[in-house]
This record gives sequence, C-alpha cells and structure tokens, in this order.
Amino acid sequence: MNAWKKLIDWSNGEFNSLPWRMKRSLYHTLVSEIMLQQTTVSTVLNHFDKFIAIFPTLESLGNSSEEKVTLHWSGLGYYRRARNLLNGAKFIVDHHKGTIPLNFETLISIPGIGPYTASAIIAIGSNQKSLALDANLERVLSRVFNLKLPWGQKLKEELHKRFDQKKFPPIFYNRPREIHESLMDLGRNFCLAKKVYCEKCPLSTICLAHKKNDFQINKGGKKESVVGLQLVRFLITNKKNNEVLAYVKKKGQWLEGQIEVPTFILKSDNKNLTQYPYLKSDEKLKKLLKDAGLFTSHITKYKIKNFVVSCDFEDFNQLAEIQKKDFHFYALKYSANHFSTATLKSFKFLV
Ligand code: SF4
Repeated sequence: MNAWKKLIDWSNGEFNSLPWRMKRSLYHTLVSEIMLQQTTVSTVLNHFDKFIAIFPTLESLGNSSEEKVTLHWSGLGYYRRARNLLNGAKFIVDHHKGTIPLNFETLISIPGIGPYTASAIIAIGSNQKSLALDANLERVLSRVFNLKLPWGQKLKEELHKRFDQKKFPPIFYNRPREIHESLMDLGRNFCLAKKVYCEKCPLSTICLAHKKNDFQINKGGKKESVVGLQLVRFLITNKKNNEVLAYVKKKGQWLEGQIEVPTFILKSDNKNLTQYPYLKSDEKLKKLLKDAGLFTSHITKYKIKNFVVSCDFEDFNQLAEIQKKDFHFYALKYSANHFSTATLKSFKFLV
C-alpha cells in the first residue's frame, strides 16, 4: 500500500475519536484549530466539549460577551486566542449571516482568522484543496522531502510553492482533510522535534530524512535568548468575604482582560520592561520576601521567578504606594472570576 494511505489508515484508526473529528462542522473546526494553536491535544480534549456545550453554535458564541468567553476559555491559556475567536464569530454573524465563508481571501479578512486558520477551515473543515502548515506539518514535510531551508517563512514559502505547482503527492489534493490530520498526528506522536520514532512511522519507506539518517531541522537564525525576570505577587485577602485584592489587566498588557493579584517587578534583565510597576526593595519588603512562596513561569521570552507574599492590607499599603486606585476585592471563587494562570498558582500559597 502507498505510504501516504498507510499514514491515513493509521491516523483514522488511532485518532478518529477526537471530539472535533467525531462532530464535524466548520464551526467545530474553527474552534478546535484555534484551541490547538499553542496548546496540546490532551489539554484541548479537557475543554473542547465543555466549551461547545456553552457555545453550541457560531451565533451563540458571536452574541456572547468577552467576559463569558474568556471565563470558559480558562485552562487553555493564551487568552488572546479566545478574544480572536469571539471577534471572528461576531464578524461572521454580522457580515456573513453566521455562515463561515470558504474563500481564502474572505476568510483572512475576518478579524482573528489568519492564513493558517483560513487554510485549515478549507482543508480540514470542508475537505477542499488547501495547505495548512502548522508546526507539525512543517516539520514532518521538511523531513520527508529533505528540505533544508531555514525553519519559518522560507520553508513555508517553498512548501506552498510546491503545493500550488501540484508537486505534492496526489493524495494532498484528493484527500486534504485526512492528509492534514494524519500528518498532524504523526508530528505529535512519532516525528517529534527532538526525537523520531521512524520504526513506527507509516512514512518511513518514502521519508528522505529517514533514508539519509538526517533528522536535523534548520532552525535558521539565532534563537531568541531567555530574559530573566523576578516578580513579587501580593496575596491580600478579605477572609470574611473570601475575596482577594486584584486588578484587571488593561488593553495591550500581558494577559489582557484577566484578573491578577497586585504584581510588581523586583528585578528584570530588560530594564525597559513596562508590563508591571517596579517595587523598590527596602527592609520591610526584604522581611516579607523571606517567607514568600515561590514558583516559576514563562511569558514570551521571559523566564519568571514569582515570589508570592501573603500580607495584610496595611503592610501592603506601606509598601506599594503605586496604582492603589486600580485594586479592588474580587471573590476568590474560581468560577466567578477570570484569574490569570499565575494568579491561580499564587493561590496555592494562601494562608
Ligand atoms: S520516517 Fe522518521 S523522520 Fe520520516 S516522517 Fe517518519 S518519523 Fe519523521
């Protein structure tokens, strides 16, 4: 049997039970593709059905509020995607009578839908010819065809050029949905960035990387270096009402629209960072930091050391003379408020 068909058979046998594949629709493809960007399948599996139960149709999503959508996006991270999805749904309701268009140019004119999502809706959602290159497809195809172009724009352009010139195997044009999904499955399971399981791979008979025993991906230019950042997060609770002092992240800030406990920069390798106010270290703060909880997190290139300080309102007032007007008490109930992931992690240190 042709290796590409073997790949599709393997994928159909192993992964057809994914909920967005079982309940096919353009809307489900739109939601799942946006959820799957930067999030693993196992995480999306925990959220997709619940999200669809709350927003069963594109209209129900488009007519909803940002607050409600981001609340039900909780656990998926990268909330900008939730806002993009909502903006796209609103636009489709207002300008396309609630029907997702299937023309690439029209799709990319919709807010929140970029070239990848547009191609995925066409190829996966409607099983029509298009090439949707996510990181898995890019990696697998560069290995199978032994393309040594730098990862990113150049490699994508070359793959699109070959696809448009009909230089891809016919199955890419005859069975777009299955070939995309099976390549994504392969990239996730056997053809990983740092490890390959060629002995299990249905494409091993035709893969040039396997033949040459050369799996190296050309990552192009220099890797962006990691920047160190130390933050202090204050837990000030109003225990009687089970509330915590916090604020809503403003437009343009990291984690826009989410709720965070008062957070300040202690130390940053990037002195121009303005995402949080700086807090001067004095004896009082040093004393509080001695008992602080600690966890690490990442945002973009920043590796963050988070110190979590529990203190009372008075101590906080003496320390943090900045932006007090923005802080309010919010119910600690997870389901009632849309706290950022780092803030939820901070709650582990509540005393
Ligand atoms: S044979 Fe190996 S390198 Fe080639 S696609 Fe399969 S897992 Fe990747």
